[in-house]
Amino acid sequence: MNLYNSLSHKKEEFIPYEKGVCRMYTCGPTVYHFAHIGNLRSYIMEDVLEKYLVYSGLRVDRVMNITDVGHLSSDADTGEDKMLKGAKREHKTVMEIAKFYTDAFFADCEKLNIKIPDTVVPATSRIDDFIELTQALVDKGYAYVAGGNVYFDTSRLKEYYVFNKMEAEDLAVGVREGVEEDENKRNKTDFVLWFTKSKFDSQELKWDSPWGVGYPGWHIECSAISIKELGEHLDIHCGGIDNAFPHHTNEIAQSEAFLGHPWCNYWFHVLHLNTSSGKMSKSKGEFLTVSLLEEKGYNPIVYRFFCLQSHYRKSLVFSYEALDNAKGAYNKLIAKIATLSDEGEFDAAAAAKLRSSFAEALDNDLNTSLAVTALYDVLKEKTTGKTKLALLAEFDSVLGLNLISASNALNAEKEKDVNGISPEDAPIIALINERTEAKKAKNYARADEIRRELSEMGITLIDTAEGTKFERA
Ligand code: AMP
Ligand code: ZN
Repeated sequence: MNLYNSLSHKKEEFIPYEKGVCRMYTCGPTVYHFAHIGNLRSYIMEDVLEKYLVYSGLRVDRVMNITDVGHLSSDADTGEDKMLKGAKREHKTVMEIAKFYTDAFFADCEKLNIKIPDTVVPATSRIDDFIELTQALVDKGYAYVAGGNVYFDTSRLKEYYVFNKMEAEDLAVGVREGVEEDENKRNKTDFVLWFTKSKFDSQELKWDSPWGVGYPGWHIECSAISIKELGEHLDIHCGGIDNAFPHHTNEIAQSEAFLGHPWCNYWFHVLHLNTSSGKMSKSKGEFLTVSLLEEKGYNPIVYRFFCLQSHYRKSLVFSYEALDNAKGAYNKLIAKIATLSDEGEFDAAAAAKLRSSFAEALDNDLNTSLAVTALYDVLKEKTTGKTKLALLAEFDSVLGLNLISASNALNAEKEKDVNGISPEDAPIIALINERTEAKKAKNYARADEIRRELSEMGITLIDTAEGTKFERA
């Protein structure tokens, strides 16, 4: 597979450090609010990457952190902690906010078929590791204490701006807004590893440390969690493009200073989802969440389909018109698949040809829109229904578009009669209607007999104000 590497600014063949295994790290959400669909674009594309690596035969060990402390309102070391802001907004504790929005993030992932990494680590659960890493950096002379805080000394590095050849668009996202000078810093680019003194003394969560009671900076969590969970050599580090600077730049500085050798070989950055008026925001304009899309009648998978139709390295503009187009195309695709029947022999020659165009698309820097085209190629191919259904299911293990379950659901829906009753439910409903009539005629013996008959079929009746409902055992 060829992947664009933001570190080398070119497409490179992906070769894992250890044969057969890909060690992958993803910056997780800052759980102070719901994720917006822009955040989720990054997680969808990373999910396709992970699933494609698995499809290609690799074992993927993937780790994600949950940022529940240390991410300040500005990506630089200024402003209030985002978590504390969220807690104040909702009159809750920071840990209550963290739990609520972590669960909400997982619920969104489930709706979008995003696999949650096997190892998910909340930053607050690893404070001792952050202190240990910070201490090691102090001991190695890469960090210094000033004004009560511990800072990373970027002047000790041969190269700090490792992503410096970024394209204009990338740099625009990474630019820091409203940065205030911190007089403790020896160099402008130094950043905080541990805070004990900040303008915001009301910080709720604090821990004891060799430098006093305080809390970690944002960047240290990803270095510490990644090295502990995935070892000294990381294959792929993922995140949205805004994270390239300063977050990932600082992660590389810390990790390589600590390890004494190169750390991560491939950097996978997803460009932003924007609105027609610009940057997507949680506080300004419409707060675009998965729940909002659902309230508006969209199946979340349609949003995933919308994302897959574009390349992850191009910024994407969200509009309801564009989403409606994706919805139309998705529904048509499902309707076509629903007409297939699992007939005939499996056609190995056709399968090999179709698989190779699917793989060619994704091998070329995860070209998901061409991988979606490969689905239409399957439908167009002159081959058996069995082959087509098998390949669609196989490709969907990577794309995650519910192709088979949605087309089965469509067929079940079609089988319902004009009253919306499916063939399996029809005899049960007939008996329920007969029981209602019997009760009206005060023929309780027959009514009870019907209840027993249904019970033997594993059907439980529930009498409600709106009539009798039933449940299958
Ligand atoms: P956060 O919860 O702010 O830490 O961000 C979670 C992930 O979403 C990070 O990988 C960000 O880089 C990414 N991200 C933030 N905004 C966008 C956006 N508009 N489009 C795509 N990804 C984004
Ligand atoms: Zn991170």
